[in-house]
Amino acid sequence: MLAEVLIFTAMMAVFLCLNYLIFAFGGHWFFYQYLGPKIPHRRILENDASSGQIRKEKQRSFQTQTIFMAFALVIYALYQAGYTQIYTNLDERGYFYFAVSVLIMHQLHDAYFYWTHRLMHQWSPLQKYHFVHHESAPPTPYSSLSFHPVEAFIQGLYWILISLILPIHVFWLFAFYSFMFYINMWGHTSYEFWHKDLLTHKILKHLNTPTHHNIHHKYHKANFSIYYNFWDKFCGTNHPEYENHYRAVKAKTEQYKTSRLLKMMKL
Ligand SMILES: [Zn+2]
Ligand SMILES: [Zn+2]
Repeated sequence: MLAEVLIFTAMMAVFLCLNYLIFAFGGHWFFYQYLGPKIPHRRILENDASSGQIRKEKQRSFQTQTIFMAFALVIYALYQAGYTQIYTNLDERGYFYFAVSVLIMHQLHDAYFYWTHRLMHQWSPLQKYHFVHHESAPPTPYSSLSFHPVEAFIQGLYWILISLILPIHVFWLFAFYSFMFYINMWGHTSYEFWHKDLLTHKILKHLNTPTHHNIHHKYHKANFSIYYNFWDKFCGTNHPEYENHYRAVKAKTEQYKTSRLLKMMKL
């Protein structure tokens, strides 16, 4: 039994470190060292994060991942005791349910994130804990897991709840964590890549953008959602300047593209 726990702990440690290496270290290197200098026209917020900010983000991320590791061990213990809905045999529920279950998990996380995030902003006992995350201004990929332990606990609680209430294949617990980190990393870059007409597109307008979360870090009082814009729209919590900011960032990109084209044509 002890050997199994140790193997699980080691596997989890490798998994968490790999994700951090790819999305936080990799994301920062890619956006701020490799690609960033070539795409200043895609910049959302102009100021750079200080080295002190990044150092704090790394320390807090380590703390967060230690808490996530503790949550993983709790889920493991609950699974061994037969309390969770986690299953490992694909044939148990079939491929259709396998596909649908991750969509349900995704939507539930979208709602959980919005409401817990909004609570942390609007309920004063939690504000001081969440504002640790807001010390990241401007945000960077390292901000993705830069939380106070209380917020890390709230974020980690989702994984225990989902394991208890939703029959979910073990694969999705790992894959969805990586997906969540990937989306978080995008939200914390200071670069916008979505199309200029995204906000008026019939379907794609429901997606969130890095600009959306960058504005959240700048103004604090709006834009609480993560993957989709449903909840902010439905509850009227989008920042009134969000669309203008988005258009201004995209106008900068369009202007750059046009002047580059004119230069190439020697006009
Ligand atoms: Zn953030
Ligand atoms: Zn916030």
